[in-house]
Amino acid sequence: MREKKIKTKIINGKKTALKIEETLKKEVAAFTKKPKMAVILVGDNPAGLIYVSHKKKTAERIGIEAQIYHLSPVMTQDALIAFIQELNQNPSIHGIIVQLPLPAHINENSILNAINPEKDIDGLHPQNLGRLFIDQPRLIPCTPLACLTLLKSVCKNLTGKTAVVVGRSRLVGKPMAQLLLNEQCTVIQAHSKTKNLKKICAIADIIVSATGHAELIRKSYVKKGAVLIDVGIIRLADKKITGDIAFNEMIGHAKAVTPVPGGVGPMTVIMLMKNLISAYRTIEKIN
Ligand code: NDP
Repeated sequence: MREKKIKTKIINGKKTALKIEETLKKEVAAFTKKPKMAVILVGDNPAGLIYVSHKKKTAERIGIEAQIYHLSPVMTQDALIAFIQELNQNPSIHGIIVQLPLPAHINENSILNAINPEKDIDGLHPQNLGRLFIDQPRLIPCTPLACLTLLKSVCKNLTGKTAVVVGRSRLVGKPMAQLLLNEQCTVIQAHSKTKNLKKICAIADIIVSATGHAELIRKSYVKKGAVLIDVGIIRLADKKITGDIAFNEMIGHAKAVTPVPGGVGPMTVIMLMKNLISAYRTIEKIN
């Protein structure tokens, strides 16, 4: 028997991001002092250069100053920590981000831990992650926050929904699962050692996938009418960008799905700006 197709909503992250950008612009226009963020890039990773310049352009459109500190790839870990501590003390800086990955001789955790938690607009400091864990969030990691915002745009009530998060990184998977748990979902966290991912995904009302494996999530993994959020960004041999989810297979089967590109990516950058404004309010003591 032929499967009855359903109407699948393609969640437009670009459009949602532009809408939020307009709101943030108005918010910033009312500030007396210009919000400012420091963006640290160590070395010449080409992807890092692109991301950093994209963040700067977005910030400037909103009225936020973004100062890029492009540092030497041979900079020592101690020197980088000392540099971050200076920015922590600088009253004109409201947010600090360190573009990842860092060169191999620098320990990522030590660097993220050195950022003043009130200026940690990536939300990756242990204090901010800990606050999320006890459901008293302050600055929430941008990509999971982007996913949740998109999810809520198609799924008004998350209470009691079964959510599978594929991936358990500090950046995406772990905070994502915690956010969904705080939203009253029943959460399953899958990873590379998970047995029978297909069976686990098949019970989910919501799947958020963040593995970096092209089209890992196939139609046979997905319950009809599920909502799918694709975090993965994979550049194929032909230079095309794809995600973790087999997008075309989901049309007519899923309730909603984010495309790659144009889904979570543009929203992540805008969530960073939202966090910067929130950090600004804390630091400048504005409600
Ligand atoms: P990591 O490599 O840090 O983590 C990947 C996670 O996926 C790990 O937990 C790993 O499990 C799990 N995993 C890998 N293979 C499988 C598999 N076959 N089955 C189940 N789980 C698997 O990546 P990130 O979390 O930093 O990023 C994930 C993806 O999201 C990447 O493609 C990245 O480019 C993209 N990304 C996109 C962003 C956006 O704005 N759209 C922002 C950040 C990331 P284990 O822990 O066992 O190794």
